[in-house]
Amino acid sequence: MAKVSEIRIYPHRDLGFEYRSKESGNVVPAYRLIFHELAEAVAKVKGGMPYIHKGEQMPGTGAHNDAKQREKRLPNIKSEGLAGDQLIRDPK
Ligand SMILES: [Zn+2]
Repeated sequence: MAKVSEIRIYPHRDLGFEYRSKESGNVVPAYRLIFHELAEAVAKVKGGMPYIHKGEQMPGTGAHNDAKQREKRLPNIKSEGLAGDQLIRDPK
C-alpha cells in the first residue's frame, strides 16, 4: 500500500487559536502554514525526499527542512514566525 500524505487547508476557519513560533515568539500567519505544507509536499513527491532523513533531528535535511528554507525567502521574515519552526498553539 502506498503512503499517502494529506494536506488540509481551511484558510477562513477560525480555530480559536493561532500558531506561534517557539523560537521567535511571532505569530505564524495562515499563508505561511499553507506555503510550508505545499512546499513540503512538493519536496516529498517531486524531490523524493522523506519528511526528515532517518537518524537526524530537526532541523536537518529532508522535505521539512527544504520547505523551511524556501519559506525563509518569503517577505516579512523578521515579523512573522516560520511555519517550519516548532509551533505552539496560542488561544486568541
Ligand atoms: Zn514541515
